[in-house]
Amino acid sequence: MKLIDNWKQAWKLKSIQVGALSAFFYILMYAAFELLWLFGSNFPQFWAAVPQEIKELLPHSWVLWLGFLNNVLSIFSRLKYQPELHTGVNQFVAITAGHSNTDPGAVNGKIKEAELVTKFRNAVSYYLQQAGVQHKMDGVGSTNLNLNAALKLIKGSSVAVEFHMNAATSKQANGVETISLPKDKKLAQDLSKAVADALGSRLRGDNGWIDQSKSARGRLAFVSNGGLIVELGFISNEAELAAFQARYWIAAKAVAKVLIDYEKALK
Ligand SMILES: [Zn+2]
Repeated sequence: MKLIDNWKQAWKLKSIQVGALSAFFYILMYAAFELLWLFGSNFPQFWAAVPQEIKELLPHSWVLWLGFLNNVLSIFSRLKYQPELHTGVNQFVAITAGHSNTDPGAVNGKIKEAELVTKFRNAVSYYLQQAGVQHKMDGVGSTNLNLNAALKLIKGSSVAVEFHMNAATSKQANGVETISLPKDKKLAQDLSKAVADALGSRLRGDNGWIDQSKSARGRLAFVSNGGLIVELGFISNEAELAAFQARYWIAAKAVAKVLIDYEKALK
């Protein structure tokens, strides 16, 4: 049985206090009942003197035990971790930028993938903020922490998305794709479509989705850990790069909308 995270502080919970107090009173009543019964069986004169109405008021011992058991079970049910409840206050979206301040990723002349996707992450953050959606990032401003920092954010997030730009030797290669585990296929397709519509690009893979098990890149740590990787376009394709630079705010707004809708649906 997996307990709630703060089970050691559970005595602070009102429901636990009430349950424990109630269980304690059931035990007291049971003890009093046993005592009375013991006393009564040894001193029949005393038992005979107890008015019938009082005798009828005395609960049967199994009623007391059921009450006690009920209280103990209620304490356990409160302490038990319920994943279906964990979409509320602690809910957050993780949005991270691929590569880092020391690893530029793909480059086209002076333009670095890591810098483009950091700007994109910040733009998505802006729209999530506007909508009041809690989110965590791998750095603020121009800071782009490495993959390890990004991986840590996946745990505890309701959804984790990392942004990249593709690159290919053929300058014609183009399009948007999102790599994820099969369970996130729909969300992956929605994210790719949001970007493609905003930038005027086409969808790659299965309507914008790439199953990581079928990806030429092999297993990606970010995806294996439950995250989604959005390849926003090809940095090596001049037209896509220009479209990205001119309209990335619009794409970021569309991506944020997909994430906001996804979060709303969880609540
Ligand atoms: Zn990349």
